[in-house]
Amino acid sequence: MLMGQLRANNKEVVHEEEGNIVVINTCGFIANAKEESVNTILEYVQKKEAGLVDKVFVTGCLSERYKPDLQKEIPDVDQYFGTTELPGLLKALGADYKHELIGERLTTTPKNYAYLKISEGCDRPCSFCAIPIMRGKHRSTPIEELVTEAEKLAKSGVKELILIAQDLTYYGLDLYKKRNLAELLQHLVKVDGIEWIRLHYAFPTGFPMEVLDVMKNESKICNYIDIPLQHISDPILKSMRRGTTKEKTTKLLQDFRNAVPEMAIRTTLIVGYPGETEEDFEILKNWVKEMRFERLGCFTYSHEENTHAYNLTDDVPEDVKQQRANEIMEIQAQISWELNQGKIGKIFRIVIDRKEGNYFIGRTEYDSPDVDNEVLIDATRFYLKTGDFTTVKIIDATDYDLYAEPV
Ligand code: SF4
Repeated sequence: MLMGQLRANNKEVVHEEEGNIVVINTCGFIANAKEESVNTILEYVQKKEAGLVDKVFVTGCLSERYKPDLQKEIPDVDQYFGTTELPGLLKALGADYKHELIGERLTTTPKNYAYLKISEGCDRPCSFCAIPIMRGKHRSTPIEELVTEAEKLAKSGVKELILIAQDLTYYGLDLYKKRNLAELLQHLVKVDGIEWIRLHYAFPTGFPMEVLDVMKNESKICNYIDIPLQHISDPILKSMRRGTTKEKTTKLLQDFRNAVPEMAIRTTLIVGYPGETEEDFEILKNWVKEMRFERLGCFTYSHEENTHAYNLTDDVPEDVKQQRANEIMEIQAQISWELNQGKIGKIFRIVIDRKEGNYFIGRTEYDSPDVDNEVLIDATRFYLKTGDFTTVKIIDATDYDLYAEPV
């Protein structure tokens, strides 16, 4: 949206390329993300000192969370902006904020897909999470505005919408006094040109089950859900303040699979949370083996100031945290390999995201960009067009890659 506003002000704007004025959009929710953001700021401050860039501005979550510290520690940045200071940032860039541009964006993803943020902020009390500190209380974007944004994206060539929010399942509670994700989906499937709609970041407690009916009945809704579950041992779930239990979560996943049997379920977990014992970890490992998630990622716990869990002792050593994360990912690699072997010989409709080296790289509806399986097709033997859908037969598979030929 910042880029869309700048373009509307006749500014030349590029993403991840050099320019004379640099805007760094930062992340600040866990240690690794903060480190990466700070390193990027330092890199451009040095470029400014060397006379390679004229100005450096910093925006986003890190800046929202640590502005006074950053101003003190890295004063050579021209100005820091928080997450709600878009008009101020535009002003510093010599541009005006134009209200009439609602939903007008420049996307930085490949042309065929775009992320659609349906709400901002989060009202959940998860103990480990710094996101509400940076993003504030939950605010849904009205259905009409999202439909307008989706229509504009579709006109620019987007075929797949990836719905995101801090918590997708809370959508509508503030504006419509009810969980309204299913109704939003029913509006979005009517947008011409959109062929796939994918759901990321659903919270398990209070999941609006009618979404599953829409998924089942509307072919445009990918049979895919990303539901970060974080842990499964009851004492840890309780301390994490997730409002659910192992029993309830297991039942929810069974309900998902009963309602939409072909659904790919993606989750993310945190290991090394304060007080996580060997027994808690065993419970988590066994459950991962039992549930056989189609997709899974695992983070090590990051001890974040001003969160509820910061009052606890960060007592699992870093090397143990990492070892536990590795163990979970090894289990998952085996599961993923087995599931992928079962796809050999099967036919899938895929979208081609890009060409890389000697391969066209695509995805099935069961895979999200960057985080899931990719489908590789030999570009020395077949010609495909980036952004197009095509039908392929899987001929080989590894843990996280599928090899295919067009049929
Ligand atoms: S639902 Fe997600 S964003 Fe909200 S507090 Fe919990 S972990 Fe953080």
